[in-house]
Amino acid sequence: NRLVVSGSETFRGRHGVQLAREELAVESDLHLALETGGLSLDFQPVLTFDGRIEAVEGLMRCRVHDRLLAPGRFIPVAEKTGLIVRLGEWSLLQGTRFAARLCHAGLPTKVAINVSRAQLTSPTFLPALHGALICANVDPALIELELTESLVMDESEIVQQNLRRARETGVGLAIDDFGTGYSSLSCLKDLPATKLKLDRSFVQVLPDDRRAYAVVRAMSRLARELGMVMVAEGVETPEQLAALHDAEVDAIQGFIWARPMNEEALLGWLEQRNTP
Ligand code: C2E
Ligand code: CA
Ligand code: CA
Ligand code: CA
Repeated sequence: NRLVVSGSETFRGRHGVQLAREELAVESDLHLALETGGLSLDFQPVLTFDGRIEAVEGLMRCRVHDRLLAPGRFIPVAEKTGLIVRLGEWSLLQGTRFAARLCHAGLPTKVAINVSRAQLTSPTFLPALHGALICANVDPALIELELTESLVMDESEIVQQNLRRARETGVGLAIDDFGTGYSSLSCLKDLPATKLKLDRSFVQVLPDDRRAYAVVRAMSRLARELGMVMVAEGVETPEQLAALHDAEVDAIQGFIWARPMNEEALLGWLEQRNTP
């Protein structure tokens, strides 16, 4: 019995070492990407049911040695090492700059940027936000920050204060991955948020899961009554789309309408939609 226990510990030890090694490799890739221009933002459109563009969401891409690293791999490592603050501020700058570019192209569109916990609670967060808005010279109403549900529900003073201060600049605040954390309804009513983004896990089980459908429907009513826009993300099938329409969700993001694309492709996509 003892032997088995120590054997499994050795296994876990090795496994741990291997994991740490992998994280180190991703971390050095991230540094390299930052130095060699390997970072980029793709943008994915969010559309209302009548075809109006509600926003585009900036999604970070990282390329090193001609390999594309998935955000699911590099974002957690960036969060663990604190690098996410630099990456996130870079993302904010790129997003605001692109919002200005869209305005100049005669295609004013709201641009949403993901903000992680370490970034929101960093002393550089508010200066970076102000800096990006001034630098791009863009209407703050055209910028939206996406923060996960578990982050905005954090009652710590620094989180709540920075959320309020951010909102005071005029940018929108979206609650991301809604439905995956613990929300208290009383907190929801006090948040300065302007948008709810329903997590893909709710969308995936539609239309068959009637209980999930009931929750989505109730949530979109609640969002409306709180004056927030309700978006469903990860929509892939016409059946999901129909169920979300029935549930009176305001807007949709998902492969069914468009994949994330680079700036040039998105500009082309928007222009094409604009020409009858
Ligand atoms: P997220 O913020 O929830 O972003 C939505 C993710 O869903 C994106 O994955 C997008 O490509 C994917 N998606 C969109 N439509 C569909 C669909 O119809 N089906 C499926 N299966 N997926 C869909 P992506 O680009 O891999 O990003 C993953 C996560 O990485 C993001 O999840 C976000 O949490 C994080 N992330 C990406 N860029 C940034 C960033 O600049 N800053 C921070 N802090 N996090 C970021
Ligand atoms: Ca997001
Ligand atoms: Ca999300
Ligand atoms: Ca997510």
